[in-house]
Amino acid sequence: MSSTPEGSSELRAQLREIFRREGLHDMTAVLQILSQLIPESLQEEWLEQMEETDKKGCPESFIDSLPRIHKSKITPESSCSICCGNYLDEDYPLVIRLPHCGHDFDLECISVWLAKSTSCPLCRDDVLSHKPEIDTSGLEVEEDWGMYG
Ligand SMILES: [Zn+2]
Ligand SMILES: [Zn+2]
Repeated sequence: MSSTPEGSSELRAQLREIFRREGLHDMTAVLQILSQLIPESLQEEWLEQMEETDKKGCPESFIDSLPRIHKSKITPESSCSICCGNYLDEDYPLVIRLPHCGHDFDLECISVWLAKSTSCPLCRDDVLSHKPEIDTSGLEVEEDWGMYG
């Protein structure tokens, strides 16, 4: 049984739809939906981040270069910390992993965040402070990430 509350998967589908169509060009619509999905613990920070309109986030090329996690590497219980959605609820999950801290998120969720911020929403790791190398070997390791915290 899924613990996803009723309606949230519909919201996520909408979010995905907008994101696919508009990317980050329709940030307002994406944000509106996201604000209904993100947990309270993140909300304050999120809104603060978004209100600073002139704040520079990550370049789009950086967001594009983030390593995607293949569906076969996604564990059934893993979910996006931003929208709380289970990745495998989607037929074609687009999941990325931040290169240094190893936290993973839906591509659309983290794209919106990184457009305004350069830090991981979970651990505040400055994602741009590390070399933008793409190390796919690290994606094999599921259990070890907690050791770096
Ligand atoms: Zn998400
Ligand atoms: Zn992190």
